[in-house]
Amino acid sequence: MSTTHLPATTGQQLRRRSWAEPWKIKMVEPLTITTPEHRRSALEEAGYNTFLLRSEDVYIDLLTDSGTNAMSDRQWAALMLGDEAYAGSRNFYEFEDAIRETYGFTHVVPTHQGRGAEHLLSQCAIRPGQFVPGNMYFTTTRDHEERAGGIFVDVIIDEAHDPESLHPFKGNVDLQKLAEVIGRRGGSEVAFLSLAATVNMAGGQPVSITNLREVRDLCQRHGVPIYLDATRLVENALFIQEREPGYADRTIASIVREFCSLVDGAWMSAKKDALVNIGGWLAVNDEQLFEEIRNLVIVFEGLHTYGGLAGRDMAAVAVGVRESVQEEHIRARVGQVRYLGELLDGAGVPLVHPVGGHGIFLDAKRFYPHLPQDAFPAQTLAAELYLDSGIRSMERGIVSAGRDPKTGDHRRPRLELTRLTIPRRVYTQAHMDVVAEAVEAVYAAAGSARGLRMTHEPRYLRFFQARFEPLEA
Ligand SMILES: *Cc1c(COP(=O)(O)O)cnc(C)c1O
Repeated sequence: MSTTHLPATTGQQLRRRSWAEPWKIKMVEPLTITTPEHRRSALEEAGYNTFLLRSEDVYIDLLTDSGTNAMSDRQWAALMLGDEAYAGSRNFYEFEDAIRETYGFTHVVPTHQGRGAEHLLSQCAIRPGQFVPGNMYFTTTRDHEERAGGIFVDVIIDEAHDPESLHPFKGNVDLQKLAEVIGRRGGSEVAFLSLAATVNMAGGQPVSITNLREVRDLCQRHGVPIYLDATRLVENALFIQEREPGYADRTIASIVREFCSLVDGAWMSAKKDALVNIGGWLAVNDEQLFEEIRNLVIVFEGLHTYGGLAGRDMAAVAVGVRESVQEEHIRARVGQVRYLGELLDGAGVPLVHPVGGHGIFLDAKRFYPHLPQDAFPAQTLAAELYLDSGIRSMERGIVSAGRDPKTGDHRRPRLELTRLTIPRRVYTQAHMDVVAEAVEAVYAAAGSARGLRMTHEPRYLRFFQARFEPLEA
């Protein structure tokens, strides 16, 4: 049915509201509206880092789409059916079934969230000194890979680093770059390809099935396994349905299955696509690797039938995973993100194109052309947006990139972005209008921004806890 999916450009469709939510609201949570003075002192107290704000001081919270989802009535009902047995909870088997059916892998291990799975996979599948190529990086993923002794190498296509490139699949792997990594010391010195779909740090950009097939051929020739970060694979599947020839009439569920059939295993932060507040998993097909993971999970997360989760949480994941691949759900989810993107485009605000699946990534370099990267433009933009309207966003630039473990210098990523991440099923279209108005106001005042200085720098994943001060005029 050709009427069941959106074209890549959605202007007309949006006016017809074809992405309208396939649900209605049953319960509401009041929001706090604060004064400019209140926000000024809250931000100072938080060291100009939006991660250190109290949520009570935030009006519209676009820090992250992680664990901020609104659950459905079915999910809440499932919580009441939690089987809190230490071993063999009924909810584990529901969880395992939902993941096997939706993603197609044989063996499933629950983890408390995505990074728990990254830890286990890295410890079991990386030997110190091995390369771990990835299509760009994710903060916690790379950290765990490096902790296990892996050497991360970025093999994403160049277009991903260009916020203005309109490539439809900016998450794709550059085959040349991957071949070079394999060529350096041969396939046995590559632990695995760490493939993310969609690519969070590039702006929620998708990977095409065509690219994955080519990548898989190359990897198979050299005996390199592919492990997939499936955290936002459902959003990736929507882009494949809309943009990849031959997929327009396929269901989201079948695209997700096909994608997973081309990789050796996957992990997920269920706090994103899977519509819950906590949870994750790691799934592989290889029996021996599974045995190792199933053993190690006990040390770090918990027994292999709960992996750090309450029975009720596994029950909510089982329902959420199934809801996440419903066509109407995913179209409304990405439709809302695009709606905000179109408002900002209309106002001439610089942002990453094409708009990705989970948020709007403002291009802080073009927003503040007068600020050098060492004055933390994206961090500055997040601070200014909070001061203006109490909207919380997140830095995805030089602070998030951290320091090079060898040289000790800042990594200076080409992308210096401020992310407005949209939680699933939480905010309304009117909230998106308010966000657009706030971004426009901050853009109009961009010339007066002075930038920030870092006053406290934690050793690991510094963006979470770093503190800043405004630079003097
Ligand atoms: C959030 C995220 C993770 C880590 O998951 P947590 O549940 O936060 O531990 C890994 N990969 C991607 C792409 C993510 O967005």
